[in-house]
Amino acid sequence: LIQLAIPLNFIGFVYREIRQGLTDIEHMFDLLDIQAEVVDRPDAKELDIGHGAIAFKDVHFAYDAARPILKGISFEVPAGKTVAVVGPSGAGKSTLSRLLYRFYDVQRGSITVDGQDVGDVTQKSLRAAIGMVPQDTVLFNDTIAYNIRYGRMAASDSEVEAAAEAAQIADFIRGLPEGYRAMVGERGLKLSGGEKQRVAIARTILKAPPILILDEATSALDTKTEQEIQAALDVVSRNRTTLVIAHRLSTVINADEIIVLKDGVIAERGTHGELIDRDGLYASMWSRQREATQAEEQLKRVRERD
Ligand code: ADP
Ligand code: MG
Repeated sequence: LIQLAIPLNFIGFVYREIRQGLTDIEHMFDLLDIQAEVVDRPDAKELDIGHGAIAFKDVHFAYDAARPILKGISFEVPAGKTVAVVGPSGAGKSTLSRLLYRFYDVQRGSITVDGQDVGDVTQKSLRAAIGMVPQDTVLFNDTIAYNIRYGRMAASDSEVEAAAEAAQIADFIRGLPEGYRAMVGERGLKLSGGEKQRVAIARTILKAPPILILDEATSALDTKTEQEIQAALDVVSRNRTTLVIAHRLSTVINADEIIVLKDGVIAERGTHGELIDRDGLYASMWSRQREATQAEEQLKRVRERD
């Protein structure tokens, strides 16, 4: 029994890791030969993708029936627009992105892309339309070129390099002794969180999907890295329907709408200006973050002086 239990446990662990990290789930399923929880309906059609308008309607969801995470969430991301979701840790922000990518099915309500329910279309066609830059990118144990090219396997070397350039990671790669052939991942070169995120952005630039989901890293990035990532994200989200789980002030300010998620419901919504005027939860999150940034900058100036 113990011999059986260990591998099952391990598979469960890998499975959860994949779900959380949103890495290449289909590839891993093939490798592990395990059944996905969410399967295509027998009559599933290909998603007929246009400009990628997204609508969440009265979405309810719980991982465990005893603890509801989302309790009736409705919002739209019009084609080509950007909606930012903010809120305390554990509020269910990343869960929204997992439901849109259909790692799980909603328990009530619906999520549609260009008017088609994500549960009615094939997962393959849905995921082909969505580019996901997750919170923590897991890289393959392969070359950096392979990790970028994964966005579109048929891409040429010069397309891979152009994507790296747009994602602000090309200078870093050129600085590596082996350049694009450097091995990365667990058994290779360890990249920082910001570098991994830019590799994921380069991958997404190559994929060029109509819909983009960005789950920004929570970990504090230094100002320069943050600016580089922001510039890369601006390139990739231009003219794309973008759902951003936002931590950085810069992405929030320019969003067409900001959704403030708390305790499973939308506590506030509006543009940055509207929410500041409202002087509620968003306004207090904003001033807290700004104070933290200012304190950090002050500390840096003091250090530079010494
Ligand atoms: P956020 O991104 O807002 O920080 P998440 O959407 O990741 O929050 O998670 C919302 C809640 O659901 C958290 O309390 C988290 O612990 C829980 N949760 C997330 N993933 C799972 C899972 N696979 N199984 C059970 N609970 C989960
Ligand atoms: Mg999250």
